[in-house]
Amino acid sequence: MDRLKAKVALISGGARGQGAAEARLFVREGARVVVGDILDEQARQLAGEISSQAGSRAAVAVHLDVTRAADWRAAVDACVGEFGGLDILVNNAGIFNMSGLEETSEELWDSIVNINQKGVWLGMKTAVPAMRRRGSGSIINISSVAGLTGSTGSTAYHGTKGAVRLLTKAAAIQYGPEKIRVNSVHPGLIATQMVDIIPQGQRAAFQTMVPLRREGRPEDVANVVLFLASDDASYVTGAEFVVDGGLNAA
Ligand code: NAD
Repeated sequence: MDRLKAKVALISGGARGQGAAEARLFVREGARVVVGDILDEQARQLAGEISSQAGSRAAVAVHLDVTRAADWRAAVDACVGEFGGLDILVNNAGIFNMSGLEETSEELWDSIVNINQKGVWLGMKTAVPAMRRRGSGSIINISSVAGLTGSTGSTAYHGTKGAVRLLTKAAAIQYGPEKIRVNSVHPGLIATQMVDIIPQGQRAAFQTMVPLRREGRPEDVANVVLFLASDDASYVTGAEFVVDGGLNAA
């Protein structure tokens, strides 16, 4: 129940899906959470619901477009202003697209790179000074199995998620001496609105390839993120955690 007692977390893209599951779980484990998203109304509703379940103002929502440095500054300021500091950043916001290399327009490329890759860098850059003031911190960057292996499409998505994997390791090395840990999580197919664009037939076929024979749930990823956020992972940094039902074991 208290694995995140007295800790303050900022979760980007936290209004729904995996980020929302993490926000709920973190508060159950004693944290206070700032939910940052461009989906303002959903983020506000979620924060209200979490707070009323907790019986205290345990979650607040902020408008956060991860491509905008000013939004990140406001989100970190909200952590400090509302809850006194920042201990945990989950760089979870992301967008998915299945276009192949030639089918990807420059505009689409830029938007995927800006959100999935630049957003992660900006988040770390803005969070680190606040974590330094706390004397430690944990950053969890949500990559994907698409950051570990390629496929016939999703070119920009693969590129950005691969970049997140190595951004994570570079930051882990730079900030290890300051007790700021940085790890990446690599989910397989997780049943959220993001994957609604994958045809049902393809999703069913995919499940037969997964050793655990099912799609992941947001909570499956949230449990791993919780471990990395907590002091249970105090000697874990620069590492990658695959949450894919065994898909990549083959
Ligand atoms: P989701 O679409 O439900 O959630 C993504 C969230 O990011 C949404 O709330 C969305 O509003 C937010 N977002 C998008 N652009 C944003 C921006 N510019 N600024 C702030 N927030 C923004 O999907 P999800 O499955 O919960 O995705 C969470 C993370 O997991 C993403 O990084 C995604 O790439 C990754 N992931 C998902 C899967 C999967 O199968 N669902 C697999 C591997 C990795």
